[in-house]
Amino acid sequence: MICIPIVNRTQGEIEADMASAAGLADVVELRLDYAPAADLRRLLERRTGPVIVTYRPSREGGAFTGPEDERLALLQRAVDLGAEYVDVEWDCVGRIRRGPRTKVIVSRHDFQRTPDDLVRLHAEIVRSGADIAKIACLARDLRDNLRIFDLLRASKHPTIALCMGELGLISRVLGRKFGNVLTYASLRPGSESAPGQITAAELRELYRYKKIRAATSIYGVIANPVAHSMSPAIHNAAFEEMGLHAVYVPLKVETDPVAFVKAFRSLDVQGYSVTLPHKEAILPAMDEVDELARKIGALNSVVNRNGRLLGTNTDVTAAVSALEEAFSDEPARRKPGNRSSLSGKRILLIGAGGAARAVAFGLVELGAKVMVANRTRERAARLAQELGCDSCALSEIGSYGADVLINTTSVGMSPNVKETPAPASVLRKDMVVFDAVYNPPETRLIREAKAAGCRTITGIAWFVNQAAAQFELWTGKPAPREVMERVIRKKLGALP
Ligand code: NAP
Repeated sequence: MICIPIVNRTQGEIEADMASAAGLADVVELRLDYAPAADLRRLLERRTGPVIVTYRPSREGGAFTGPEDERLALLQRAVDLGAEYVDVEWDCVGRIRRGPRTKVIVSRHDFQRTPDDLVRLHAEIVRSGADIAKIACLARDLRDNLRIFDLLRASKHPTIALCMGELGLISRVLGRKFGNVLTYASLRPGSESAPGQITAAELRELYRYKKIRAATSIYGVIANPVAHSMSPAIHNAAFEEMGLHAVYVPLKVETDPVAFVKAFRSLDVQGYSVTLPHKEAILPAMDEVDELARKIGALNSVVNRNGRLLGTNTDVTAAVSALEEAFSDEPARRKPGNRSSLSGKRILLIGAGGAARAVAFGLVELGAKVMVANRTRERAARLAQELGCDSCALSEIGSYGADVLINTTSVGMSPNVKETPAPASVLRKDMVVFDAVYNPPETRLIREAKAAGCRTITGIAWFVNQAAAQFELWTGKPAPREVMERVIRKKLGALP
């Protein structure tokens, strides 16, 4: 079930939000500690679905600071009026008289940590006579969620268990897979009743919460930061399009991706996307790394094959195939013996970071002649030496007669959309210009290249290609590329 807490202060606002929540929630929680003057009888008369009545004291993270007897009297009234549920704190449940129509949720909160003795605390709550046991605690590490999942899996008693905070997001989404009775979600941004709550619309539409079952496969993106990643939107939309029982979540791994992967083996995650800053550090966590990823020293994709984690890099082929498409109507099939349309092409590669490295390795492999140019000249020289190609300073790029100009720097990326890594004077109409930057979808470089008559490839093509390759690696099914591209463009504001 999805529960939307109503945290308004006035009767009118609460009634309005109860009405708005009706289509999104299975149950609404009346947080009367925020509205002590509300008319409970009237609220219950006007409800359109089941409600939880909560009157949370400050000692459990609520807003009520008055006398305990007053608080318990109101909860008792909710029972006597026949509310479907009341939420009673673990330390006072014995003081509430039961009623025939009301289930008692006995709750315990910890806003500092996920306690070590979760199992014992849960057992105590169950013994106190809870119809539903509830534990909500702060995640300080993604691994805290695993203990919540273990608790849910092991519990024979109806239980609500979740981690709060940004690191607890996955417990709010995936808990359903392990039998969580309900998850809390806000009606709108800003109306959260606890840290880390997402909106009910996001839970339903982005994570397809109602479709999560015990058999749902888990996928995710390992990154830091991760909040603005577009991958959850893209992959969840692709799973939905293909009718797959799978969900994709953001995984904010702050420091040690190897320790993270080791701990999360128990969750049997079926595939990871890996992005900044973990593409290199994660390699030792794999059971196997393919030759390409090993050569580059970085991976962006992990697939779980019967418990063995295989690392690969879809960035390389994604960038190369976007370029090959620009040179032929049909993407060149890179079977052994097939000559790539990129072989022998003169490529000016601006940048020497992670993206440049992936593109450069792919291009050199296909026999392209790569010139690396970078702001930090020594970095360009180092990459060029590793690849066996040439390097130059940014000021010299005009003199390299390139067939293809590729920007792999972040220059021109939002919000610095007026910047460009290459002056318009170096762009010639017979060139292909490829910009790795995808936000905005059309950069100044791409605009100027179009004006000069060049063929252009945007960062979106690269992004879609690598996501589609991951999808195919994980599912063995053709990726719904149009859906994936539409999601990216929509997220970037390039589509209504
Ligand atoms: P990175 O490893 O941090 O490298 C950044 C590169 O940008 C370096 O070469 C750096 O030069 C250069 N740079 C940064 N600011 C600059 C400036 N003001 N003037 C000149 N050069 C500057 O980052 P990355 O992972 O390679 O990513 C680079 C870009 O590619 C980002 O915009 C990223 O979003 C994009 N990207 C897109 C895709 C896709 O799917 N479309 C995939 C991967 C990356 P120095 O060495 O001098 O610092």
